[in-house]
Amino acid sequence: SERVISAARAEEDAAEGALRPQTLADFTGQKAARENLAVFIAAARQREEALDHVLLHGPPGLGKTTLAQIVAREMGVGFRATSGPVLQRAGDLAAILTNLQPRDVLFVDEIHRLQPAIEETLYPAMEDFQLDLIIGEGPAARTVRIDLPPFTLVGATTRAGLLATPLRDRFGIPLRLQFYTPEELHRIVTRGAGKLGFALSEEGAGEIARRSRGTPRIAGRLLRRIRDFALVEGRAAERAMVDETLIRLEVDALGLDAMDRRYLRRMAEHHGGGPVGVETLAAALAEGRDTIEEVIEPYLIQEGLILRTPRGRMLGEPGWRHLGLTPPAGPQP
Ligand code: ADP
Repeated sequence: SERVISAARAEEDAAEGALRPQTLADFTGQKAARENLAVFIAAARQREEALDHVLLHGPPGLGKTTLAQIVAREMGVGFRATSGPVLQRAGDLAAILTNLQPRDVLFVDEIHRLQPAIEETLYPAMEDFQLDLIIGEGPAARTVRIDLPPFTLVGATTRAGLLATPLRDRFGIPLRLQFYTPEELHRIVTRGAGKLGFALSEEGAGEIARRSRGTPRIAGRLLRRIRDFALVEGRAAERAMVDETLIRLEVDALGLDAMDRRYLRRMAEHHGGGPVGVETLAAALAEGRDTIEEVIEPYLIQEGLILRTPRGRMLGEPGWRHLGLTPPAGPQP
């Protein structure tokens, strides 16, 4: 079952298309990444060269795919997209690379999940725009070197630390995406409502912005759900309506969902606030360790609800308070 505020992609996200910003100027937030990209794109265009390879890292739903598409549009080149888990054989990658036009953008989502053999094919392709193909099998096998058009690889990953160093080093432009501020999300939600032709009050937009876990994908999803409720119940989307609807969607005052609260409660009730290892938590919550570390924890850490210590996770003071509990006396982390 899909979490309502999950930052992961879902079928419904086809509806995201309408809300996607199309140009860098349209793209709200991520000031540092945006400004750097603007300079590098302008320079590459002036030199009439492919843009250097770009690595985008950060939690799901922050705009990595959107930025990759914008890079292609601003460069005035084609855009091809694939993902680490989809590429099963080196031939799959070869087929894509040999069909690129000069300076095209190839977007590889979840690039940390590439097969090792494919990753190795990628090294000379990124570095020298060359592809070593193995033709035939057994003793008759031989390697053929193919020249590729210069292209830009835009890789996306939830954690740069998961990338092998030789791969990470081949990206000339590494950009880290941050959670959005409530003000930035307010702008994004207001724009989104405008695009959907949906009358959302200023305070209603602010309420969605504050409760979207710093993530535009979640803001867009909550916006569409609020719009559904407003339509069916014939209510104006002002603040009280938005608040009631978010509570019905199990999104609390901090924007946390049922899974986040289970995580926090587990720490408080079974581990006295920690420290507790991530594996233990993953097992207790029946979630993958990856999901815990890449989807659930980053926002809880940013908000100080939990802390990552060498001995494990600990519940922070705001975490205790959010659960309506008093932190135990004694030294806190
Ligand atoms: P990621 O690839 O990081 O998971 P996406 O690029 O797919 O995230 O973005 C998820 C959704 O959030 C899309 O609907 C996109 O339109 C929206 N979005 C992301 N960044 C922004 C932004 N800066 N301004 C407005 N909408 C955004």
